[in-house]
Amino acid sequence: MNTSIDIKFWGVRGSTPCANLENMKYGGNTTCVEIDLPHSEEILVLDCGTGFRNLGNRLCKVNGSLRGRVFITHPHWDHLQGFPFFKPFYNSKNWFRVYIPPQGDVGCKEILQGHMSSTFFPVSVDMLEADLNWETFVKGKRDFEHFSIDYMWANHTVPTAIYKFTIGERVIVFAPDNELPLDGSEASQTFIEKFRSYIRGVDVLIHDAQFNDEEYAERIGWGHSSWEQVIPLAKEEGIHSLYLTHHDPDHSDDYLQKMDERVNSLHRTDFEDICFAKEGQAIHLPV
Ligand SMILES: [Zn+2]
Ligand SMILES: [Zn+2]
Repeated sequence: MNTSIDIKFWGVRGSTPCANLENMKYGGNTTCVEIDLPHSEEILVLDCGTGFRNLGNRLCKVNGSLRGRVFITHPHWDHLQGFPFFKPFYNSKNWFRVYIPPQGDVGCKEILQGHMSSTFFPVSVDMLEADLNWETFVKGKRDFEHFSIDYMWANHTVPTAIYKFTIGERVIVFAPDNELPLDGSEASQTFIEKFRSYIRGVDVLIHDAQFNDEEYAERIGWGHSSWEQVIPLAKEEGIHSLYLTHHDPDHSDDYLQKMDERVNSLHRTDFEDICFAKEGQAIHLPV
């Protein structure tokens, strides 16, 4: 059993998987993050992009039954495509709870039922064999045995959660799809102020940095941020470690490596850790 909080990135790509040679170093799978809780066998999963399949394959090597909670930020394809390919869902020994924030009147099970309806996939949610429960996660802080969770709404194109996990004394914020607006409007200012106070002083911030400023200027309103917007804000709010994620599928390893080096040379002393997240990367947070 763990004595630290172990976080692992199984997918860091935004929008669509990209299985190209020039993407293999940072990884081509879409968003999925695993959190292993200290002193608990229960695992947490954040989003079910294509990286979720690899996490499932790794978990299948564990002896005995599995127990986990899966928190999905929103149902865009890049956060759901791995869902039907998670092998532990096909084993009756396993226990999982799945959470999605409400999408208008549509709830968690309906969203996944639609995603796995016969037009799109041969297996329906009712054919999954694990002990599964589907919860439309309405806003409000929830306490579980080893952690608590809350969310605020992201600035994105559909209702999207920015999850905040409190595990002992440690706080982790997960915002893979969030546009930090620059337009100076009152609504934008209000959002930014709320977001700032929400992330203030957290141990780990995993945040959308799909674009650079130049790209962002052409993509205002698409629901994503530039790394140049995220970093100063994270620094001002005293974030300990910042992981930039949801990389654009057109950003090659060479590009991301260069940006990573640049960001490190400019900001290394502002954070305990700062980087463009890589698939397979692990973070160990002592408790
Ligand atoms: Zn996304
Ligand atoms: Zn999205």
